[in-house]
Amino acid sequence: MRKIQEEAPERLTAQGAVHDVIIIGAGFSGICAGYHLLKRGCSNFVILEQEDGVGGTWFKNRYPGAACDVPSHFYCFSFSPNPDWSHVYSPQPEIQAYLEKCVQDFNLATHIRLNTTVSSLTFDEDTGLWTVQAEEGQHSTLRAKHVVVGSGGLNTPSVPVFPGLDEFQGEAFHTANWQSDIPLADKNTVVIGSAASAVQAVPELAKVARKLTMFQRTPNYIIPRDDRAYLDKEREKFRHSPLKLRMQRFKFYLRFEYVLSPLFKKNSWIRNRIEKKVKRYIRQSINDPELAQKLVPTYELGCKRILISDDFFPALNRENVEVNTDGIDRIEKDAVIDGCGRRIEADVIVLATGFDLHKQMISIEMIGRNGVSLNARWEKEASAYKGCMVDGFPNVYFVTGPNTGVGSTSVVHMIEAQMHFIMQCIDLAADQKLIEPTNAAVQADNQKTQKDLENTVWAGSCHSWYKDENGRIHTLYPHAARRFRKERRRLRRQDFLITQRKKNRETADVT
Ligand code: NAP
Repeated sequence: MRKIQEEAPERLTAQGAVHDVIIIGAGFSGICAGYHLLKRGCSNFVILEQEDGVGGTWFKNRYPGAACDVPSHFYCFSFSPNPDWSHVYSPQPEIQAYLEKCVQDFNLATHIRLNTTVSSLTFDEDTGLWTVQAEEGQHSTLRAKHVVVGSGGLNTPSVPVFPGLDEFQGEAFHTANWQSDIPLADKNTVVIGSAASAVQAVPELAKVARKLTMFQRTPNYIIPRDDRAYLDKEREKFRHSPLKLRMQRFKFYLRFEYVLSPLFKKNSWIRNRIEKKVKRYIRQSINDPELAQKLVPTYELGCKRILISDDFFPALNRENVEVNTDGIDRIEKDAVIDGCGRRIEADVIVLATGFDLHKQMISIEMIGRNGVSLNARWEKEASAYKGCMVDGFPNVYFVTGPNTGVGSTSVVHMIEAQMHFIMQCIDLAADQKLIEPTNAAVQADNQKTQKDLENTVWAGSCHSWYKDENGRIHTLYPHAARRFRKERRRLRRQDFLITQRKKNRETADVT
């Protein structure tokens, strides 16, 4: 395996230092990339993070109740297991602290530039380098041989247009922009949205609100989370037995892989049985039969994300909580007017309305070979070879690109598999070469993925963020995690175009 050469810091070109790798985002993806580069002996890289701290989604999503919905022992790096998780599903502050500790443990802090927002990437044919424009208080231009895009998919809040929202005189904010200094006790709180974020926030908000009204547009399948605190003696065992710690992770991996994954196949008889059970569970959990009816989904289980919670239904049974399914007509200065003209007084509006994947995807202007814009290309259809690379955009790697969401595993597990693939590409191209998939390989990979997705429950008629506006699934991968990993274990050389970086004066300077 050839390694990227260490570069002396004084080797600067007229336009500044050339980094071997620029990583965008300091969440799970960026930290994972940094760890692997250092492990390979490459230290000439920088991680650009737009926020004021590391953690990515876990830095931003600090709403009350925020926690992972994959067991923590499986929602962490395999190369950095944590024996000290407090709960099966640990809360946001612990995940944030875990990621901060990873940065320390892996010696990544000096590589990270916070408050740095990347606006564009442009490929320079003459040098074979990428020019990265970033804002960090002032404008800066960086250059790199390789770029790893680890900025995630679910981080641009979606704020739908509600007439009158601008005139609302109370406080209104999105779950991903939580305003922890705003008092919520004894307030009339309106939550718009009823999916993953709302299901976690509502039980906490309901405890302190005078009245909480949750606007639900579509009901969700919600199953018990069965969360619990780990006992001291269990944590002690994990601390002293690396094998036990590994087995704990493996147990969850197997459960996701062999129990959850089959549910997503089209026409699964197991799913039909479970669907009936979940509907029964919802009816039994809600005191008011009329409300229960509104909470039972009418689409197939799994078509939208299956949610887990132990405290959401008990919260909906509270006296001070109401579920409104009449839609929102408009917002006035101190109230939300529903679709039936009812006035719901509001001091605070919490937008649990999810994320704008499309906006996120095109948030960085990327110009590849021959001046081609990736945004323009993805405007028609977002696709990439293994969800990671696009022809005409050499040495650029998306960690969570199109169709990389393995619906039945931990996203961290998926990121590690993708990183294995990315590191092989970086090793292969190293200093002197450019690597990109052939157009034929991108097309074939995409066609196969789309065809296989037809056999999944996600292709059903429900509306979900898994699909783009044309109904094409551009987020999810159609199979289980083991296949995702297998497909990324070794590079198929025939799928790639590997060319020599042109040697001109500037690149000769740095390579
Ligand atoms: P989401 O799943 O996209 O849900 C958004 C909610 O807002 C839905 O209930 C949606 O209704 C509603 N909504 C959107 N636009 C609306 C409008 N114009 N009027 C009324 N209602 C509207 O977003 P999310 O709950 O933030 O979750 C997004 C994803 O983030 C999850 O699927 C998950 O992958 C991730 N997440 C993970 C965790 C975790 O524990 N690890 C926690 C939170 C989120 P419809 O269903 O009708 O569209």
